[in-house]
Amino acid sequence: MTGLAIAESLNAIRERMRVACTRAARPEGAVRLVAVSKFHPQDAVLAALGAGQYVFGENRVQEARAKFPPLRSRFPDLQLHMIGTLQTNKARDACRMADVIETLDRPALADAIARAADQEGRLPRLLVQVNTGGEPQKSGIGRDAADAFIESCRQRFGAQLVGVMGIPPEKDDPIPHFTYLASLAARHDLPEISMGMSNDFEAAIDCGATLIRVGTAIFGQRASQPPAT
Ligand SMILES: *Cc1c(COP(=O)(O)O)cnc(C)c1O
Repeated sequence: MTGLAIAESLNAIRERMRVACTRAARPEGAVRLVAVSKFHPQDAVLAALGAGQYVFGENRVQEARAKFPPLRSRFPDLQLHMIGTLQTNKARDACRMADVIETLDRPALADAIARAADQEGRLPRLLVQVNTGGEPQKSGIGRDAADAFIESCRQRFGAQLVGVMGIPPEKDDPIPHFTYLASLAARHDLPEISMGMSNDFEAAIDCGATLIRVGTAIFGQRASQPPAT
């Protein structure tokens, strides 16, 4: 998409967020937009930055490393969220580069992030990803283990553990999944709930999302592979 088209779609999303917040009797600003730029070139990120969007989500450490660190000095308000399955051997890159890791989903990764944060002297804010639909191909801690895992992460990471994240199964009504995530966050007194994507972010806002992750509705269809660097 052109830079102008990206600016226009961002404005349209912001308007839909306002309407959804009003309908849910939530204050404007209760929900922040994470613009998911995976598989889109750095130009698309620059267009969004030019339109006042500073929070981005990327799935892959390698792709994020090519696109974002070079922009930091020009855009000090830029915030990078890692939203894809994170391998333990990428934890150090993620700790160096990201402001938020939304996909803390297993004890081995908690160990790796703790070690990496020590080495880097930098610990991003963390969300625990929950596999709310129990899908075998999807990342996330299972519902049955979520409470204990959140507790152990809280003990280890303290206030840097800020919330929960989830991706409902495509075939399901997302609302029960959103409701579950909201109650999980409330039970643990966690302020952030990351849920809702291009197709369902308004329902997520209705259910209490504080972060929505929107890609296609901002940047258009994704390429089939990451941009060449
Ligand atoms: C790609 C992705 C999104 C964005 O999805 P769209 O349907 O393009 O809005 C959101 N969250 C995660 C975890 C993703 O991988």
